[in-house]
Amino acid sequence: ATFGTLSERLTDTFRNLRTKGKLSPADVDGTVREIRRALLDADVALQVVKEFTAKVRERALGDDVNKALNPAQQVVQIVNEELVGILGGEQRRLELAKTPPTVIMLAGLQGSGKTTFAGKLAKRLEKDGHTPLLVAADLQRPNAVNQLQVVAERAGAAIYAPEPGNGVGDPVKVSRDGVEHARRQQHDVVIIDTAGRLGVDEELMKQASDIRGATRPDEVLFVIDAMIGQDAVNTAKAFQEGVDVTGIVLSKLDGDARGGAALSVASVTGRPIIFASTGEGLDDLEDFHPDRMASRILDLGDVLTLIEQAQEAFDEEEAQKVAEKLATEQFTLEDFLEQMQQLKKMGSMKKMLGMLPGMGQMKQQLDDFDEREIDRTEAIIRSMTPVERTNTKILNGSRRLRIARGSGVTVTDVNQLVNRFEQAAKMMKTVARGGTPNIPGMGAM
Ligand code: GDP
Repeated sequence: ATFGTLSERLTDTFRNLRTKGKLSPADVDGTVREIRRALLDADVALQVVKEFTAKVRERALGDDVNKALNPAQQVVQIVNEELVGILGGEQRRLELAKTPPTVIMLAGLQGSGKTTFAGKLAKRLEKDGHTPLLVAADLQRPNAVNQLQVVAERAGAAIYAPEPGNGVGDPVKVSRDGVEHARRQQHDVVIIDTAGRLGVDEELMKQASDIRGATRPDEVLFVIDAMIGQDAVNTAKAFQEGVDVTGIVLSKLDGDARGGAALSVASVTGRPIIFASTGEGLDDLEDFHPDRMASRILDLGDVLTLIEQAQEAFDEEEAQKVAEKLATEQFTLEDFLEQMQQLKKMGSMKKMLGMLPGMGQMKQQLDDFDEREIDRTEAIIRSMTPVERTNTKILNGSRRLRIARGSGVTVTDVNQLVNRFEQAAKMMKTVARGGTPNIPGMGAM
């Protein structure tokens, strides 16, 4: 499959990296050399390989490495991120015009998969509720119009084509008329299939450029066969300069391509890959996601998961630090009061829950919950001075008596509250330190 060998070689490279200690510059250089060879052998353009490896090297040697990861994981993470980068970074979707019709022009070499893609896109758009019109502007190849007709029929899409037997038409006029036809017939998207040649040539480029000028497309998609290897770069550059494409469609990604075109074309043209074509069927069309493609190339699902886990463990350590800070601060009766009020909110849920069917057991538990007790607790705490609320140690007999009188309860009630609070405070401290609380009556959890 595409990227198969590249994946294997990169995986081998990573496997050879030590998992302990710090990477030496020699380790990094060795690794970068391996990556470089693997990419070149996969037909990635030299220019792209150079930039890529330079970045990986710089980052692997720099201070910006992720300290949560071991050296091997750090390199994998860097390579992964840089791969996402050369594949275009963020996912880019097809852009539809605010005022229809959206005009999408397709360009590319003959046999690149343009016509097939036209059908795939039309079918996709139909599914999404659009009313695409296919325009047959490839009047070069005798059978091209016919082929688009077949594709349109399979996609269930409308087509605009010059009458057969009218001799060789003018593709620029056909394109312009096609857009006009779409406007009249209320098609909201126009897909123009243009002529391709076996190689880049000036006449073809001029024609494509003229069609672009005549139809002012919202998107000019350059369809490129992922199998074409090193030629990809020159072809892509030529189309970028000649027609100014807005996005790229990688076709035949289902084949045995070594993947070089896929890896080069976005960074060489500076244009995003929007779709991946993955078969001859009209449903074989995927939105292109740089990050998913990178993961697929690295073939490192497991390793990436490990990295995520390491990262999470690291985050947990950070959380632990915050928790320790919290543990030194005091949990006061004010906090306790706040928690009580949270509980009270639950009390008012009682009525609501009671109305729901099947809540029998839950309702019983809620019935046991005494709202008045919370009110009593609240009253007791409110009868304390601010100093008493932050430090229960000073609550001697006379203070307790004063509080009991102030809140209309007995001293026993006050004692019970203070005891409960002190237990809760202890528990909060344990939890904050990362331990498991020993809740009375429940045993150690
Ligand atoms: P065009 O000349 O650019 O219009 O290219 P076509 O659409 O006619 O495609 C050329 C050949 O490639 C046809 O045989 C298609 O069936 C085949 N093809 C197109 N897209 C794909 C694809 O994504 N995967 C595979 N395996 N074949 C494809």
